[in-house]
Parts: sequence; structure tokens; C-alpha cells
Amino acid sequence: MTITVDPLEEIGAIAQKQNIWYHIDAAYGGFFMLTEEGEKKLKGIESSDTLVVDPHKGLFLPYGSGVLLAKDGKQLKASHSYQANYMQDASQTTEEISPADVSPELTKHFRGLRLWLPLKLMGVKPFSACLEEKLLLTKYFYHEIQRIGFEVGEKPDLSVVTYRYIPKHGDANEFNKRLCEEVQRDGRIFISSTLLDGKFTLRAAILSFRTHLQTVDLLLNVLAEKVKMLERA
Ligand SMILES: *Cc1c(COP(=O)(O)O)cnc(C)c1O
Repeated sequence: MTITVDPLEEIGAIAQKQNIWYHIDAAYGGFFMLTEEGEKKLKGIESSDTLVVDPHKGLFLPYGSGVLLAKDGKQLKASHSYQANYMQDASQTTEEISPADVSPELTKHFRGLRLWLPLKLMGVKPFSACLEEKLLLTKYFYHEIQRIGFEVGEKPDLSVVTYRYIPKHGDANEFNKRLCEEVQRDGRIFISSTLLDGKFTLRAAILSFRTHLQTVDLLLNVLAEKVKMLERA
């Protein structure tokens, strides 16, 4: 997963014309809407019928806070609400929609609180500032990693950079696999990897509230150090 943003507006126009349900998986990227740059990149997101965003990613909140937004709540109700004799005492007398009627769960955890409370206490600003920081760190990493001799993939749309090192000798896939293992074994920074067109590729996903400039600099140092070590081996 490289977190490139699909052309949301164009796809939306096609979906509308062909009468196709338009679902957008913005689990990772959706909250970048809180930044000016993200808003431009995610233009067209509003044309979706349903949309997934993960507050446990882009809002840095506890895991298990996934959100599904549906344009037409009546459709959620039609999909999920049901009646049974044994549930007759739980039937609603008020106009208010019961969460049990609009999701697969009947008995549920009070997950909304951990989203509502931080936003209520601190407002949106600290969250958007934090996301801005991640975008800046990503640009910085994309630039600096090339300076120390790595190849990079496409310019990042949001906060993931793909990169790999081409060694002077030997197989690049093998080298990058070992490099990834060495960085993980080192333990100071966690990076992940992926396969792009069969190429073993390293992946930096910058979306933790704990990741700051010094973290990215540390990663650059660790990578340079491990490359040197593996080139010598
Ligand atoms: C994280 C992610 C998921 C999975 O969501 P969870 O709520 O963490 O299970 C799905 N799609 C994308 C694009 C993601 O980044």
C-alpha cells in the first residue's frame, strides 16, 4: 500500500453516471482533509455514497475507532435494523435512531466517547497541526533519503514514502530485504516493506503522533549506517 490517492472526483462522476455505489476507503488518508494540502488531494471525497475513515490512524486515537459514514442514513437502517419477538422491549419509542439499528452490532462498546472527548476538549486545531507536521516530515524524508543514495517511488500524495537502495554488487531485492531486517533488529525505528512490481521496496509510513523531525533524522542515520554495514559485508 503506497497511499496514492485515486482520482476521486473522476471516479465519482463515472459512478454517478453508471449508477454504481461509490465507496471510498479513506481509512488511512481521510483525516488529511483537515489540512489544506490534503483537502486538495482528496477533492471529490464528498461524492462518495459511503466512506471509511479511521480515527485510530489520522486522529491518533486508540485502536478500534473505525468510522463508516453513509450519505443516506436510511439505507443503513434498512440494511441493519430488524425486529424479533424477544427484542420487543427494546423497541424505540423516540424519534432518535438507535445505534443498534444502523450497524451490525446490537450490544456495543461506547466507542464514540474516545472520539468525541478529545475533540471536545482540544478542538480540531491540534489534530490538523499534527497532520500538517506529518506531511512536512514526509516531504523532508522523501528529499533526504535520495541525498543518501536511495531510489524513491512516486512523490508521496500523503504520508507514505517508498524507497529502496541499489547496492554496488549483488541482488537489490535481497539487499533491501536484509536492510529492512537489520533496521528492525536494531529496534530504534520500525520500518516496513512491500513488493512493487516484484521489487522488494521499503516503506516509511509517517503517521504516529510520536514521530517528529528527530525521529526521521534518526531513521536516516540508521539507514545510512546499515547500508554501509551491508555494503562491506
Ligand atoms: C488501515 C486500513 C484499513 C483497515 O482498517 P482498520 O480499521 O485498521 O481495520 C483498511 N483500508 C485502508 C486503506 C487502511 O489504511
